[in-house]
Amino acid sequence: MLQSLHFKAPKRPRAKPRSAQQFLDYRKSACEGLPDYAEELLTWCLASAPMKQAPQLLWRKLPRSAGYANHRDWRIVLSCLVLLEKSQVYETLIHEYAHLLAIDRFGVAGAGHGEHWKACMRELGQNPKRTHNYETVTVNRQVVVYQCKTCGKFIERKRRLPRGKTWLHKACNGRLIHVETRRPSEERK
Ligand SMILES: [Zn+2]
Ligand SMILES: [Zn+2]
Repeated sequence: MLQSLHFKAPKRPRAKPRSAQQFLDYRKSACEGLPDYAEELLTWCLASAPMKQAPQLLWRKLPRSAGYANHRDWRIVLSCLVLLEKSQVYETLIHEYAHLLAIDRFGVAGAGHGEHWKACMRELGQNPKRTHNYETVTVNRQVVVYQCKTCGKFIERKRRLPRGKTWLHKACNGRLIHVETRRPSEERK
């Protein structure tokens, strides 16, 4: 056991500029174990607040969002670039599960961060925060987030769409609702 106290520190790799691939590999290793943890958490959610059908859980290289729920495909997508710790997976997965739960119970009326979603968050033992900073990585510019009321897809824009008109999601003709405007100063917790 003592030996482990006197281990030789591995030589630091020469300070080379990291390539994008090296950076992605580093992120990948930091995420090890998180997919298993996410599956466990999903099982817990399904047992605590059941829904008609278990959602599919997918990991994608989402550059800016920690994750999102798509109620048309009934899936939760998590970002392997943004989520690097269990606590972040915990916060994100339950937030997204609550979106699907609200839609499972109330249909499209459950979309967004309204009362139905908040009630589902509370049922899962969470404080339904209006701002969900975890969905924000360091943002150097304003990001305006809309959600399609029909398919649930999140759409990010640089500017707010002019008010007084109904804006539709090209892919499905669903109505776009304003979710939030992230100011440049907002950073993830
Ligand atoms: Zn949300
Ligand atoms: Zn849509």
